Amino acid sequence: MKIKEIGEFGLIQKIAAMLPPPHKGVTMGIGDDCAVFELSNGKLGLLTTDMLVEGVHYSKEFATPYEIGWRAMAGNLSDIAAMGGTPRLVLISLGVPEITKVSWVEDLYKGMSELAAAYGTDIAGGDTVTSSQGVLNIVVWGEVEPSQTGYRSGAKPGQALLVTGDLGGSHAGLEILRRKLQLLPEIKSYPVEKHLHPVPRIEAGRWIGAQIDHGALTDSSDGLGRDLKNLAEAGKVGFRVYLDKIPVHPSTCKVAEMLEKKPTDFALQGGEDYELVFTLSQEGLAERLIDFEKQTGVKATVIGEVLPPEAGIQLQDAQGNCQTLSGFGFEHFSLQSKVSLSNYLLN
Ligand SMILES: [Mg+2]
Repeated sequence: MKIKEIGEFGLIQKIAAMLPPPHKGVTMGIGDDCAVFELSNGKLGLLTTDMLVEGVHYSKEFATPYEIGWRAMAGNLSDIAAMGGTPRLVLISLGVPEITKVSWVEDLYKGMSELAAAYGTDIAGGDTVTSSQGVLNIVVWGEVEPSQTGYRSGAKPGQALLVTGDLGGSHAGLEILRRKLQLLPEIKSYPVEKHLHPVPRIEAGRWIGAQIDHGALTDSSDGLGRDLKNLAEAGKVGFRVYLDKIPVHPSTCKVAEMLEKKPTDFALQGGEDYELVFTLSQEGLAERLIDFEKQTGVKATVIGEVLPPEAGIQLQDAQGNCQTLSGFGFEHFSLQSKVSLSNYLLN
């Protein structure tokens, strides 16, 4: 059997099945945005890692080293946000060919360190090696109060399904860069910025974790379709999503239209938005979301509701027509670029 026959998620399942069960004190092993374990100070430790390969996850053609570093750090910090946690320490391992300019590496670290510093997070070490191809691996350690930890499994039927910010923008930005689309600056700037300078939702994650009725929490790193599958499987629930309620930026809609795609396809399939996807009980929700925006500077939008598992994942359009999201995410959609394909299959 080849990896391409089972995909990334099939491979993870096989690896998870062959490992012994986690030791006592490891609250979460494989299966969430971070590994979670008990600390002696009563808090929970969070550990996450992510690897980027040149030509697969980033391209020197579309992004400066600073931007590559920023995006890589954002993706890792986002996984801490997706647990409701606070990042503390970062380790960075880098493999690059010897002919790489020193200034290129310095700019890469500048992008990573500026974003880490914005959250009071230290880059505390790592490893550097020579490699025929650029490889960047980041490990982040974070902390969270046990009662404020947001797991993927927390959704309960009857709760509202929400997202922060808007979705599909990063994918639109990637398409603009990759296809060298000629667009007015006012259309181009938002998606490109969203792709090159994503902002991890640390404060938003902490606000969600602090809600006494918080349910499921994850970040939208692989597209909303994949995120919903993860939440449904982990929490043994179903969802109804109102497609017309999914927030998509007007510029993202323009790019989707140009490429003859639906804006919601960008939201469901496009990855790397690093927004949070979460559930909360409906009680006093409207007022709480006003507080959310005031505290975090980010908008949260109700896009659906949690249903019992037998409902599956229903996508309902504005006319009330329902379609069920089936299979393993959106791997069956036709994806043209190597870079974006990798985002869905082997991220
Ligand atoms: Mg994640």
